[in-house]
Amino acid sequence: MPLGSNALTLGLDVGGTTIKGEIADASGAILAAGTVPTPRGETAFEAMGELGDSLLAELPADRRGRLGRAAVLLPGIVDAARSIAVFSGNVGWRDVHVGDRFTTRWGVPVLIEHDVAVAGWAEWRFGAGRDHGDVLVIVLGTGVSGTLSVGGRLVRSAFGQAGEYGHIPVRSADGLPCACGNVGCVETLASAAAIARNYARLSGHEVSSAADVFGRLPDDTHAVRAVDDAVAALADGLLGVIHAACPELVVLGGGLAGAGAALSERLQTALEQRLRVVPVPKVVLGEFGARAGLAGATLFARYGALI
Ligand SMILES: [Zn+2]
Repeated sequence: MPLGSNALTLGLDVGGTTIKGEIADASGAILAAGTVPTPRGETAFEAMGELGDSLLAELPADRRGRLGRAAVLLPGIVDAARSIAVFSGNVGWRDVHVGDRFTTRWGVPVLIEHDVAVAGWAEWRFGAGRDHGDVLVIVLGTGVSGTLSVGGRLVRSAFGQAGEYGHIPVRSADGLPCACGNVGCVETLASAAAIARNYARLSGHEVSSAADVFGRLPDDTHAVRAVDDAVAALADGLLGVIHAACPELVVLGGGLAGAGAALSERLQTALEQRLRVVPVPKVVLGEFGARAGLAGATLFARYGALI
């Protein structure tokens, strides 16, 4: 059930390096915000609790006691129904029973969910994909994953692991090994780290980030090649799902979407070159960028479900 218009929501987005938190009102105004480093292992859950405590303490006196619900977004594999943080390789936890530890602490119902599921849902329902029922959202950053909405419903699957676009093998014959154990996954060419690594391999010069590679477009031929390789891998990886579900829009979200038209126009062209039978979806940039998870968390807490 959605909360009433007086209620506030608390959202936390837990990443590999930082935990970000916000308290928002029904209009989306942010009343408190903070970021803390993510400790390794199960200690991270204590840091989440403390960040929530400090944000609640920051609220002006006339807004205290109005928190209606909270949502905590976790990386890796999340079993929301049983309230278990199943696995995160980045933060280093396995089978942490979240249970009612936050509910007891903050005095309101607390939802947990997979970070990318909520970030993709936010872009679909409230960002670049709003008013469309069939939308594929790609969250590009440290990894490559996303969501798919079909006929106005978010595809979750019984396993809760839909949208792992990054681990679709597209260069099995001659690709690089992926952290998942496979060879030539989309992520080995299209993640932020992969783009920077590919540029270094092609040019012989190390770069600090994928943003640095995009900054060298259009004159640096090695940068053009590294970005084209990433886009080609992404387009190849999406062919199956586009043929199966025919999304109207492909929304590029996450930190890498900051590269802007250099990325979206290339992906649009790559899809036009590959698709013959099904309609070519329109490729657009997300509206929340790297904030999709955090904005999604407070909205998810407000609606109480990924509706
Ligand atoms: Zn993989």
